[in-house]
Amino acid sequence: MRNQIAAANWKMNLTYQEGEQLMNDIVKASIHLKGHQKAIFAVPFPYLMMAIGKTASMVNYAASAQNCYEKKSGAYTGEVSAEMLHSIGIKYCVLGHSERRAYFNESNLVLAEKIARCLESGITPIFCCGEPLDIREAGTQNSYVGAQLKESLFGFNAQQLQKMVIAYEPIWAIGTGKTATTEQAQEMHAYIRAELEKHYSHAVASDIPILYGGSVKAGNAKELFSCPDVDGGLVGGASLVAKDFIEIIKALK
Ligand code: PEP
Repeated sequence: MRNQIAAANWKMNLTYQEGEQLMNDIVKASIHLKGHQKAIFAVPFPYLMMAIGKTASMVNYAASAQNCYEKKSGAYTGEVSAEMLHSIGIKYCVLGHSERRAYFNESNLVLAEKIARCLESGITPIFCCGEPLDIREAGTQNSYVGAQLKESLFGFNAQQLQKMVIAYEPIWAIGTGKTATTEQAQEMHAYIRAELEKHYSHAVASDIPILYGGSVKAGNAKELFSCPDVDGGLVGGASLVAKDFIEIIKALK
């Protein structure tokens, strides 16, 4: 079975002490993960070492960055490179979250560069894609997401693609309490997988985890994750509450 992942995205929330307490509470629950299951914590940069420490003794638990810069190194004050993340032991990096696309003008092409930097440094990119509400209402979500995949991912070869995780996050469902229906989620995930099959192969497409993100909660995780092409979730709000995220981890297939 391909990897099933519960990924927490803390965004710019929690003090260090609050974050440490949250990690303690989740780790204390000692949820045993099977070989194909993973719990990943995308925490703010200053908390990465703490998250690495808390997950170190846990099998299939890992810390993740929420972003990195597209250049290798140099005079880019305030930025963090993929190589730096690798040097402290980070294995995952969220890229292309809709908030970064909206507030920091991250384009599909810049994201392709960030993915390249991550792969060069042995970091698995968690690549986010997803359509805004007007596109969904116009019914053109497949071509919109298809263009995101094409411009950011399809320049990579099959071997590189197999080192990635994709997160489908319809923007209208992020932080809104409005979740995609299981039918909407499954339909888009199947479309993404079909695109991967078209550009690479059935084997590659079958192997890549595609997470759903957008108001995943303890109460709806199991139903969403039960869709055949949904391989877990990227979770914002509910990942800030230990008992909720614990339930979401437990909902993994
Ligand atoms: C996210 O941050 O990627 C997200 C999906 O947020 P929320 O779960 O709060 O909708």
